[in-house]
Amino acid sequence: MVSVKSPKEIEKMRRAGEVAAVVLDAVCSHVATGISTAELDRLAKEIMDRHGARSSTFGFRSVGRVFPGYGCWSINDEIVHGLPSEKRILQDGDIISVDLTVSVDGFMGDNTRTIAIGAIKPEVQHLIDVTQRALLAGIDAARAGNTVGHISAAIQRLADENGLGVVRELVGHGIGRKMHEDPQVPNYGVAGQGPLLRSGMTLAIEPMFTLGSAKISTDPDGWTIRTVNGSWAAHWEHTVLITDNLPEILTLLKK
Ligand code: MG
Repeated sequence: MVSVKSPKEIEKMRRAGEVAAVVLDAVCSHVATGISTAELDRLAKEIMDRHGARSSTFGFRSVGRVFPGYGCWSINDEIVHGLPSEKRILQDGDIISVDLTVSVDGFMGDNTRTIAIGAIKPEVQHLIDVTQRALLAGIDAARAGNTVGHISAAIQRLADENGLGVVRELVGHGIGRKMHEDPQVPNYGVAGQGPLLRSGMTLAIEPMFTLGSAKISTDPDGWTIRTVNGSWAAHWEHTVLITDNLPEILTLLKK
């Protein structure tokens, strides 16, 4: 069942999204050569505390496992759900996807950026840029009267045009009181297919593209998902409100 949020719930989603954006921006300002993902995770907790937000990922349970991070820290060929670790130290030439979901007053905001550390290869920068453009294309298609497939097709088109892989097993999602609600929002698909978009729906739209094969595998830690063949991956995400007019990006940083 895809829920349409009430005006009161939408106000709370706006607040959660605003805080999620501020927290992501603050955490990303600390990303630099020499910092560990454990240190970034501690900073994320501090910054969330300061803003009255709770991490939605810390303590999240899946298949009997408990997620140990206040955020997800995925480096290079890792796509999502990378864990905080003192041993994972960022090096010049790396990229990291910082994925933060926070809860404020019972509602959630989810957003992700992929950032370069120092000088990266041009093809990796292109991967990051195209994935970000795909997010914006997907958001632009998130309009009442369209279907989820319009979002999916808009995202897939950017990957296809640029010869990038689309991760198929991981998808965007509805979001609200829970981190993952209906509908699923795949990063591939056909315009006109899938659930109808209605004003008041809130979606986390999150393209994940790869330089080579987009086949995935899960590490023995049970969480970290990376590409099978070591292809590097980028991931961008916003939480978006469908309205009667233009889509509203709830996690847009207001400067
Ligand atoms: Mg998400």
